[in-house]
Amino acid sequence: MEVSFFNTLSRRNEVFRPIEAQQVKMYTCGPTVYNFAHIGNFRAYAFEDLLRRTLEYFGYKVTQVMNLTDVDDKTIRDSRAAGMALRDFTARYKQAFFEDLKTLNIEPAEVYPAATDHIPEMIALIETLFRKGCAYQAEDGCVYFSIDRFPEYGKLARIDRENQRSGVRIKNDEYAKDAVADFALWKARDEADGDVWWDSPWGPGRPGWHIECSAMSMKYLGESFDIHTGGIDNMFPHHEDEIAQSEAATGHQWVNYWLHCAHLMVDGDKMSKSLGNFYTLRDLLARGYSGREIRLVLIGTHYRKKLNFTFEGLEQARETLRRVDELVSRLEGAMAAGGDTAAVEMLLRSAQETFENGIADDLNISGANAALFELLKGANRMLDENNLDAAGARQVVALLRRFDRIFGCLDVDHAAERLSSAGIPPEVTAWAEARQAARKAKNFAESDRLRDEIKKAGYLVEDVPGGAFRLKKL
Ligand code: AMP
Ligand code: ZN
Repeated sequence: MEVSFFNTLSRRNEVFRPIEAQQVKMYTCGPTVYNFAHIGNFRAYAFEDLLRRTLEYFGYKVTQVMNLTDVDDKTIRDSRAAGMALRDFTARYKQAFFEDLKTLNIEPAEVYPAATDHIPEMIALIETLFRKGCAYQAEDGCVYFSIDRFPEYGKLARIDRENQRSGVRIKNDEYAKDAVADFALWKARDEADGDVWWDSPWGPGRPGWHIECSAMSMKYLGESFDIHTGGIDNMFPHHEDEIAQSEAATGHQWVNYWLHCAHLMVDGDKMSKSLGNFYTLRDLLARGYSGREIRLVLIGTHYRKKLNFTFEGLEQARETLRRVDELVSRLEGAMAAGGDTAAVEMLLRSAQETFENGIADDLNISGANAALFELLKGANRMLDENNLDAAGARQVVALLRRFDRIFGCLDVDHAAERLSSAGIPPEVTAWAEARQAARKAKNFAESDRLRDEIKKAGYLVEDVPGGAFRLKKL
């Protein structure tokens, strides 16, 4: 089946054709590890996971690289404010990030290169840019990319050539479109950088943010690869600058498909610390929502539409997943003699078709959701009418499992366990799930804290063989 995506580069829906048959090489801008990632960031990672799972569903082998930005303006600023060495400071947030990915059942990338482990590769790339005449060292000691030496500059963000102010320089990693200028490849050592610096042919200093992604993606994926993704806020300047550096260095097209997700909003406003509507994943877990409920919200709106995050939305996700659990449990008891095989086959075929047609069309999650509801409704009706035998029921469960290769949150195998703890407040169940995850990650301080929390709420959590748990009222 053909899969198509909206390519930001062409602003069009395009059939996906990888460079190598059945192989996909994909690069994802990862977190800047100076803080706990917020759920806006996780919207981006959840969208990328949906993309990855969709490609795998249709038979592609995916090689995904996600970088960890562990040196930039923000990591240096905040590690200094915390009075910690940069490496120790970022290590804490790297670990938290990987825990959060697990909670959201985001499939791991093949490689997670950290910027500080790839300084020589970045220096080599900057040297190539010098050789090509696209880089220069300014009076401030910093090395800049000369945008007027790359005529295609602006092709991703569609910036007019007339507005480009060549020769004007900008040192910050982040800036707006109206500040288009030569951007920093290498920043000369500065007071504010403290002890964060490396030697280079241009004197001591550190890399700019953009060069990190060009150097690391090409190291692991080659000079040309299939897909590059990120949140829409990364399109300019970050991705534009990545293209300029990479294509100026190699002389040919770098990435074929660019996919960007829209922002996550909270109650209609952009999520921001100053508005007080800023949530990390941990904030939501502490309020009693589970990773699978949060995941369903994050993937549930088409990735190019703004996602308005609300607690109502989380409650709806909870309800949908409860319906899935209930159906699975009903299916386990299905034993009608002589079920209606033709009807079940029609239902399965139709739901699968809706699901696949949707998801293959630029990850249209609405289609996938419609298929899920079609299956829930149809199978429940057949059960009501006593038309589903055990074999038919097994086929329905198999299709739910198949859908879950992409949804990643139906988790059919634990439905009974969740239902047996029904009547138990959902936050207690969520704490028990979080405790299990913490135990798996050997974070025993956290798992003890959660056990106490559960106790305070009047429940006892017991472990059962196979990594599951049971909750009892005290
Ligand atoms: P950062 O750690 O700021 O570099 O961001 C990591 C990823 O999260 C990038 O792909 C950003 O584009 C994305 N991102 C940041 N804020 C949001 C948001 N509110 N909604 C969706 N994606 C976001
Ligand atoms: Zn990047």
